Amino acid sequence: MRYFIVYAHPEPRSLNGALKDHAVAALRAAGHEVEVSDLYTMGWKAAADGSDFVDYDPAKRLVYASASNTAFTNGTQTPDIAAEQEKLLRADVVVLQFPLWWYGMPAILKGWIDRVYANGFTYGVGQHGGGKWGNRFGEGRLSGRRAMLAVTAGGRREHYTPRGVNGFIDDLLFPITHGVLFYPGMTVLPSLVFYEVHNFLGDTSYDAMFAAYTERLLDAANVEPIPFRSQNGGDYDDRQVLRPGIEGDAVGLAVHQSEPSVAHPTLLLRAAS
Ligand SMILES: Cc1cc2nc3c(=O)[nH]c(=O)nc-3n(C[C@H](O)[C@H](O)[C@H](O)COP(=O)(O)OP(=O)(O)OC[C@H]3O[C@@H](n4cnc5c(N)ncnc54)[C@H](O)[C@@H]3O)c2cc1C
Repeated sequence: MRYFIVYAHPEPRSLNGALKDHAVAALRAAGHEVEVSDLYTMGWKAAADGSDFVDYDPAKRLVYASASNTAFTNGTQTPDIAAEQEKLLRADVVVLQFPLWWYGMPAILKGWIDRVYANGFTYGVGQHGGGKWGNRFGEGRLSGRRAMLAVTAGGRREHYTPRGVNGFIDDLLFPITHGVLFYPGMTVLPSLVFYEVHNFLGDTSYDAMFAAYTERLLDAANVEPIPFRSQNGGDYDDRQVLRPGIEGDAVGLAVHQSEPSVAHPTLLLRAAS
């Protein structure tokens, strides 16, 4: 299989760097192809602006989404954006790996999504209008690929449980799992989250983390995905609201899964030392 890891950490000698290096080595040793976009090392430009389009005219008002669509259609995106899109298209498994920073991804990774996810590539795909809302949430340009998040967090696992003070980790990651990975059609695997990473007691804990990460990646073809409801699968009405009776009157992000993940199998506890 072809793996594509988008990696966002400023320090190659970090734990994230070690996790990434172990994973890449293990995947290659098992005969898989691996591409890595190491965003800091690449000097990835995070801010989306007019310079993302080679024919940008600063004298004209920039409407980023329509400029993005024009550039994607005409092949006038900057080469860095086009190259990342090609990597996504080549991949069977897409991994976003990052430390949790302020309850989300580092800005450089958000900027990768803002710029690489062009209009016409990941959004604005399919029929819009006449009761159609495009191909998204379960279908789209990136369908056929599996995707997952690999996240390290300083906080404790308990703080990220459904009633934990930080909020449920599935909810915090929903904008990425549902909004970024599921939106353009990818099949989303449960996130692999490592907690208290600053506070491990012995080297064996780190070895267990490396093993858990590589094991999960090697098993990516078999892991049961998050059962997100597809937009065009019948669960939503023409307004894209969940039909009455589905999940009762429940609200909240979990209603967009056909099965809850309260007993979350991948809330990986600190690996045993
Ligand atoms: C701006 C910012 C915002 C943050 N926001 C949040 C937040 O909202 N929620 C939250 O929970 N946490 C938050 N954190 C904490 C953050 O998630 C953790 O610091 C991060 O996940 C740790 O990952 P790292 O790769 O940077 O670890 P590092 O700091 O590089 O390493 C962690 C530990 O692993 C050890 N280690 C063991 N083996 C190795 C090896 N082979 N290579 C390298 N190191 C090794 C290191 O010695 C160190 O003790 C935030 C941190 C920052 C800087």
